[in-house]
Amino acid sequence: MNANTTAALNLVNVTLEYPDGDSGTLKALDNVNLAVAAGTITSLVGPSGSGKSSLLAVAATLVRATSGHLAINGIDATPLSDQDRTTLRREEVGIIFQQPNLLASLTALEQLIIGEHLRGTAPRAARPRAMEMLDIVGLSDAASRRPHQLSGGQRQRVNIARALMGEPSVLLVDEPTAALDHERSDSIIRLLWSITREFRVATVMVTHDTEFVPLTDAVATMRDGRLSASELIAS
Ligand code: ADP
Ligand code: MG
Repeated sequence: MNANTTAALNLVNVTLEYPDGDSGTLKALDNVNLAVAAGTITSLVGPSGSGKSSLLAVAATLVRATSGHLAINGIDATPLSDQDRTTLRREEVGIIFQQPNLLASLTALEQLIIGEHLRGTAPRAARPRAMEMLDIVGLSDAASRRPHQLSGGQRQRVNIARALMGEPSVLLVDEPTAALDHERSDSIIRLLWSITREFRVATVMVTHDTEFVPLTDAVATMRDGRLSASELIAS
């Protein structure tokens, strides 16, 4: 594949078609190319229905592209079995969607530890890292709180901490601030920025709020499934 090998996330000529009507197809992604380097954050903008979430779903290995190639941290995901894609996702991809999707009965700390269970890490071994991650997102005092005892911004911070537990090389974020007011949105975006730098992850963030775009390293625009070449923002 003709990939940019220095990028931690690479999509090359990715097309995704959904069945549409009796015999037609809808191109949610139309020959998309995207390369994101470790330690940088790319914002993904574009109208509703243009394919932004579809792009994240393919990049997350949750949805297989109809054609084209996906590589994560140098690993070509295209030929992998579903099981190997799941393993790759657990080891290399952090996913942060709009709704934090936390389990109501678990504390903030437990939300992080339970995910590690799926990676085969014992709770006792996962605990120090979970505490460290809560500290990084500014929630060390809230480790024993359950979701209903946290604000919307705090729940999103738990979500972010959880996504970092597996030391991902790629972080995929879909409208992280859609449910938050301006001040909280601003601090969540700044947190994602500092995490991207500190952990050297390749981050793609879908945002409808163009105000935050200047805080990112590059902007890519989707329109009808087509991605304009992402342009670097002068810093
Ligand atoms: P955005 O996130 O930019 O709003 P999406 O990626 O959700 O856009 O959707 C892109 C297009 O693909 C839309 O026309 C949408 O209706 C269609 N689409 C998304 N998911 C599916 C699906 N699971 N089945 C069929 N069509 C879908
Ligand atoms: Mg979407």
